[in-house]
Amino acid sequence: MTEEKVKVLIIGSGPAGYTAAIYASRAGLNPVLYTGGEPGGQLTTTNDVENYPGYPEGVNGPQMMVDFQKQAERFNTDVRYGMATKVDFSGYPHKVWIDDGKHLITADAVIIATGATAKYLGLESEKTYANKGVSACAVCDGFFYKGMDVAVVGAGDTAAEEATYLANICPKVHLFVRRDEMRASKIMQKRVLNTKNIEVHWNTETEEVTGDATGVTGVRVVNNKTGEKKEIYIKGFFVAIGHKPNTDIFKGFLDMDETGYLKVIPGTSKTNIEGVFATGDAADRVYRQAVTAAGTGCMGALDAERFLTAKEEELEEAKG
Ligand SMILES: Cc1cc2nc3c(=O)[nH]c(=O)nc-3n(C[C@H](O)[C@H](O)[C@H](O)COP(=O)(O)OP(=O)(O)OC[C@H]3O[C@@H](n4cnc5c(N)ncnc54)[C@H](O)[C@@H]3O)c2cc1C
Repeated sequence: MTEEKVKVLIIGSGPAGYTAAIYASRAGLNPVLYTGGEPGGQLTTTNDVENYPGYPEGVNGPQMMVDFQKQAERFNTDVRYGMATKVDFSGYPHKVWIDDGKHLITADAVIIATGATAKYLGLESEKTYANKGVSACAVCDGFFYKGMDVAVVGAGDTAAEEATYLANICPKVHLFVRRDEMRASKIMQKRVLNTKNIEVHWNTETEEVTGDATGVTGVRVVNNKTGEKKEIYIKGFFVAIGHKPNTDIFKGFLDMDETGYLKVIPGTSKTNIEGVFATGDAADRVYRQAVTAAGTGCMGALDAERFLTAKEEELEEAKG
């Protein structure tokens, strides 16, 4: 095992991680960034990003993330391929093991930007039509289906929010709910049921997303009570059954909610452990957008910089 001491370690290479890297490297903190298994993060799985400010014509997701990386490297961020597989935040400096213990890093400050992963139903057809009608984000992709009929799968608050968001821009939204009730809060359920162009299909499960060379053209669903099958014409299929934050390795050290989203002191990126900062989707169950991830990445770097400055002052004072 090799060992190394760094000032700032950034875990993750999505918009949050690279933004933290840009700020930390320009502040002279010489950050080391590990990309994890998905270099560039979630946006590398989408073609068109149209809501990130500064790109009036939109931008291709993978290209945007190459630009993020280049900008971080321009200020000498040390970008490395590798996965953080274990941490120990019980002492100081903090310890992070890379690639199953091959490398141990001790860091004065750690910025977590490990993101979250959208859950899918597990159908082969979801993969076939990914980026061609299947999406896990209505705010991101709903606009591409403006004026067309769409479907949403799910029964929680996210599904209810996605359905009502889409109902503003699409003539018809089919909402497929597996049971005969929704898990969403009462107020969200009421909103769904009061929206005229949302049709809730109770006890309904998706068997297959159907399509052709143009992308999704429909969905085949089955009523799990009666066995009745239906083909419904849609152009967009939105899966809203939840996300899993990539935070398992921090369990036992960092405060998180029941789903695993990291808890921060409101208005900051500070976690319950001094010198560990949480940014991006890993700490955001509400917004989950590239621009908000980048925003909190910036906060992570500024919080880390202020923490390190205060720590140095403490040391100077102690020396007398
Ligand atoms: C298909 C799709 C389309 C989208 N479209 C849009 C859009 O148009 N506009 C928009 O604003 N948002 C969009 N989003 C949402 C957006 O991608 C996310 O909000 C954003 O990427 C979150 O950034 P992040 O930096 O927090 O994490 P992520 O982008 O999720 O990146 C997480 C990073 O952490 C790394 N990582 C994870 N675990 C470890 C580990 N243990 N060690 C080291 N590294 C690790 C991963 O490899 C990855 O690099 C879309 C999402 C998807 C899935």
